[in-house]
Amino acid sequence: MIVEMRTGAASEEIDAVVQRAKSLDLSVQLNIGTDKTVVALLGSNTGQIDTDIFAVLPGVESVTRIMKPYKLASREFKAEDSLVSIDGIEIGGKRVVVMAGPCAVESEEQIVESARVIKESGACILRGGAFKPRTSPFSFQGLEKAGLELLARVREQFGIPVVTEVVDPHDVSLVSKYADILQIGARNMQNFPLLTNIGRSKCPVIFKRSFSCTVTEWLTAADYLLAGGNNQVILCERGIRTFEDSTRFSLDICSIPVIKRVSHLPVIVDPSHAAGHYSLVPAMAKAAVAAGADGLLIEVHPNPKEALVDGLQSLTPSDFARLMDELRAIAKAVGRYI
Ligand code: PEP
Ligand code: MN
Repeated sequence: MIVEMRTGAASEEIDAVVQRAKSLDLSVQLNIGTDKTVVALLGSNTGQIDTDIFAVLPGVESVTRIMKPYKLASREFKAEDSLVSIDGIEIGGKRVVVMAGPCAVESEEQIVESARVIKESGACILRGGAFKPRTSPFSFQGLEKAGLELLARVREQFGIPVVTEVVDPHDVSLVSKYADILQIGARNMQNFPLLTNIGRSKCPVIFKRSFSCTVTEWLTAADYLLAGGNNQVILCERGIRTFEDSTRFSLDICSIPVIKRVSHLPVIVDPSHAAGHYSLVPAMAKAAVAAGADGLLIEVHPNPKEALVDGLQSLTPSDFARLMDELRAIAKAVGRYI
């Protein structure tokens, strides 16, 4: 961490910075220039120390962090790629793992048919929300426990793992009884009590990026999961909010190579919530695989016209089957397989 003093800062002010650093067990290097003094603070945990501790001191011009604020999610902490394994399906290796299914579990018939069609096309994990975080309290909120029971039945019937969202920190143990993977939705990326409980649960988790957070904030929040002892963490890029309004969100494809550079965690992409329209989803899914995503989370509905949630962005079974064929070719071109 670098503390830059104001021009002409008094020697007592510089000394106060040095004393504060020492009280935190940091070592100090002073660079006394003709106009300005710069204080370098050294220590293994400077990434986790609040910059405000120094910024508030009299005579301080600015405080700049050199270390990243996230620790356990960083490549410095763990150099080799992490693999998450669900029923023998590895995420983060050579295989691009496709997870697909409806936005919400709506009925037995709908979720059974969804599982059948996505499995037939080569997807290996079924998605479906039982608890839905809806913008309006008047929208369909999901079938809740009955939805979880349907997912568990379909998982038995088709021998396919399921991923479903947990919204409330108190529901973590309930949902993890039924799900193979918990999903943390974009709106809950900084719901720290939820992250803490899922960190303790050790259940594999898909951790979506908030549409209003940077990659650094996302990885720093991932430390809550890892710090609790859960190392089965899969990041999921699902688009961020920008000034662009021709799509629901802007898919930040760049975050995939950025994550690969700075973190050991696997990263998948949800092209459905980013694009917001079924016609745009295939191109975004292919771009994600080309950019190095370890998997995809795609909304597919047996009959999107009748969907209770997110029908406009859901692929039909035949569109999904066609996309899977195209994805196999893209995966092969980048040294992966589906
Ligand atoms: C979902 O996956 O259905 C969902 C609500 O996604 P997000 O949290 O990315 O909006
Ligand atoms: Mn959805």
